[in-house]
Parts: sequence; structure tokens; C-alpha cells
Amino acid sequence: MRLVIIGAGFAGMYAALSAARLRDIQGVSPEELEIALVSPAPTLVVRPRLYEPHPETLTASLLELFHAIDVVYVQGSAETADAGTRTVGIATAEGGRKSLSYDRLVVASGSKLFRPNIPGLAEHGFSVDSLDDAVALDKHLHGLAQRPSSDARNTVVVVGGGFTGIEAATEMPARLRAVLGSDARPRVIIVDRNKVIAPDMGPDSRPVIEDALRQLGVETRLEAGIASLDRSGITLSSGEHIGTETVIWAAGIRAAPLTEQFAAERDNSGRLLVDRDLRVPGVPGVFATGDAARAACDDEGRYALMSCQHATRMGAFAGNNAAAELLGVSTKPYHQKAYVTCLDLGEAGALFTRGWERKVEMVGEVAKKTKQEINTVWIYPPKAERAAALASADPERVTDL
Ligand SMILES: Cc1cc2nc3c(=O)[nH]c(=O)nc-3n(C[C@H](O)[C@H](O)[C@H](O)COP(=O)(O)OP(=O)(O)OC[C@H]3O[C@@H](n4cnc5c(N)ncnc54)[C@H](O)[C@@H]3O)c2cc1C
Repeated sequence: MRLVIIGAGFAGMYAALSAARLRDIQGVSPEELEIALVSPAPTLVVRPRLYEPHPETLTASLLELFHAIDVVYVQGSAETADAGTRTVGIATAEGGRKSLSYDRLVVASGSKLFRPNIPGLAEHGFSVDSLDDAVALDKHLHGLAQRPSSDARNTVVVVGGGFTGIEAATEMPARLRAVLGSDARPRVIIVDRNKVIAPDMGPDSRPVIEDALRQLGVETRLEAGIASLDRSGITLSSGEHIGTETVIWAAGIRAAPLTEQFAAERDNSGRLLVDRDLRVPGVPGVFATGDAARAACDDEGRYALMSCQHATRMGAFAGNNAAAELLGVSTKPYHQKAYVTCLDLGEAGALFTRGWERKVEMVGEVAKKTKQEINTVWIYPPKAERAAALASADPERVTDL
């Protein structure tokens, strides 16, 4: 029997760990149940940190971990998935093609920044979405020091005032000063379509964010769309032109395109709708998880967000349940009541909230310490020690905050 997992993000990694855990508990050998994980590289890209400096360091190797828990790593990108023949078509890095059959499939292919067809965006827009994007932005920021000083050189425009946009924008003054010198006067502007900044954060926490933006001198342009980008800067739908050499696009993500391979319902973000066990209804043998899935996380009508916090736990449930079906044991319905947010606010500290109402629990330096612990410890893979790694993937305990 073979269980195939597509994706080595937070969801894929925990799907592999929890499937291997259940196989171990049931006393089944890796020969009887093979667990194979397909991804372009055997590394976890620590996406939640990609707004930070030195993005090239923000990956963690998974090969030793997979070896320790008897998970077979298959290098490549899944291009097709045929639910009839239960086969995945894979493109390899060398330009070849191969196929892999499965008895159960876990789709954990994550998400990607959505770049609308705005004139100039493809040529002039940067982002902090993928490792390559973050490295390109970092290189560009370092290159600014060689350019003649001007207002446009010292200005960064961040499009999108949600979590990612705020984290990128509040980090920017310090990153620009590090590149341009401590006497530089960077200007950072967030542009958003909404009436308020961080529309999802709610009234309790928004004043903390607004205060941080004021402290850092980050300006906002609200209720503003983008008309175009060019070499000289960005033009807003209001007609305002902002001279800048750096535009960071952070306005919305979509599920990775692999979800389109399945004849199943998807939401507006391209996520596959799944049942409580994270199965894709109508597609036998297929589970979806993490940012690739839209899953109910309680009985009160709440759905998992595209977040590392949800992806990790959903991954553990999906891997467990796919393995459970093959091992003939009962599945566990996914549930995730606790929800916290921890938003980095650059040199203005951080903001930690609890609950879906996002009640402020910590601000400033205390919250910053928690953010640093989350970003440097909690979200990294477990050590490549078999017993401890498998124990860390009990679905009921993963991200139980
Ligand atoms: C700058 C930034 C800040 C963020 N901050 C936070 C935060 O503070 N808190 C939080 O909870 N979340 C945060 N997030 C969101 C979080 O990173 C994502 O929700 C999380 O990465 C989703 O995990 P995932 O495993 O579903 O997908 P991903 O992490 O996207 O991983 C997907 C994996 O699938 C692979 N893949 C994709 N397509 C294929 C294919 N066809 N074949 C094979 N492999 C494939 C990819 O290579 C990757 O290995 C942030 C994201 C960004 C970009």
C-alpha cells in the first residue's frame, strides 16, 4: 500500500509525521505501508518569516527527519493527479517525467500569492511570498545603496494592509536603514482597498497596529486601488502617483494550482472543500489539507484560515486519517478551537491576540519575545529523532494553543 503526500510545507510535513506515527502505533512496517512525499525540494520553507532580512537562511532540511521516520522523499513537482487510476504525474528537476500510484493521496500543495493583471506588476512588483521572491527583494534592497539617493529610492510601497503587508511594512524602516545608512530617511506607505488597516484584526487590536504605524512613520493610503506600476513608481486608482523604486505586493493568496486537478468543489481562494475528516467529497482516496483545503474547524461555523497555525494541525489530521483508512482503524475528525495571532510590528514590537475576536493579550516587547520564539522554535520541524518526532505529531496535540 502507498500513501502519497504532495507538498513539504507545514501541512505536508505534519501529514508525513502523523501518518508515520499511526503506522508505528499499529505495528505496520514501511514495506507494508509506504509513505512517500513529493515536493520540488526536501526543505521546509519557513514562509511566515520571509519578510525578515537574510531570507536565504529561512529554510530547514527535512531529509534526515524523513529518513528517521521512514518516509520516502520523491523530488519533483506534481503536475497531474488522476483520481480514476490513482496516479500522480510528476515533473522532475532534470526535465523528466514520472508517475507514482497511490492508495491514498494527501494534497498539501499550499498557496501562492495572487498577482492580478495590473499593468507593470509582473515587471516591477516584489513580494515576500516564496523563498525566491523574498531573496529577490532582499537583493534589490541591497542594490538600492548603489543607486543615487532620491525620494523614490528611499520609498517602499506595500500593497495590502493585511497580516503579511503589515509585517513587511513595519520591518522596512529598519531594513532600509541597514542598507542605506543610519542617517537615511526611509518612507514606507501601505496601500489598501479597505477603509481600515488590518480589516480582519477587529476593533480591539487595530489601535495597537495604528499606533505602531505612527511610531514607525509608516503612512497609509486607504480605500485605494492600484492602476499601474512603472519604473518611476506606482499610480493609485485615485490618480495619485507615488515615486518609488520598490513595490511589495501583499494583496491576497490563492491555493496552489494543483487543486484544479480534481473534479471537486473549490472556494473563491481555490481551496478544495473537505469533510470533517479532510477527505475531498466525490474524489475517492483523496484528502486535502493546509492552505489547499477549506475545512470547518468547529461546530460554530468557523473555517480554518490560510495560516501556518491551521496548516500544521490540519496536516496532522489529514496524514493520520489517510493512514487510518489504509490501516483499517477509525479516523479522527479535524477540530481546532483555539486560535491566536501574533503579528510582528518591526521596531514597534509585536501584537499577540487570543480568540476569533482577537482580544489583545500582549503588546510591545513581551509580544515580540513570543513572536521570536514562534518564528525561531515552534514552527521549525522536530529533530530527526524517531520516537520524539513521531510523538510530536499526535493530531490531538499539534498546535493545541
Ligand atoms: C510573509 C508571510 C508571513 C506569514 N505569517 C504567518 C503568521 O504569522 N502566522 C501564520 O499562521 N501563518 C503565516 N503565514 C501563512 C503561512 O506561511 C501559510 O499559511 C503556510 O505556509 C501554509 O502551509 P501549507 O503547508 O499549507 O503550504 P506551504 O507552506 O505553501 O507549502 C506548500 C508545499 O507544497 C509544495 N508544492 C506546491 N505545489 C506542488 C506541486 N504541484 N507538487 C509538489 N509540491 C508542491 C511547495 O513547494 C511547498 O513545499 C505567512 C505567510 C507569508 C508568506
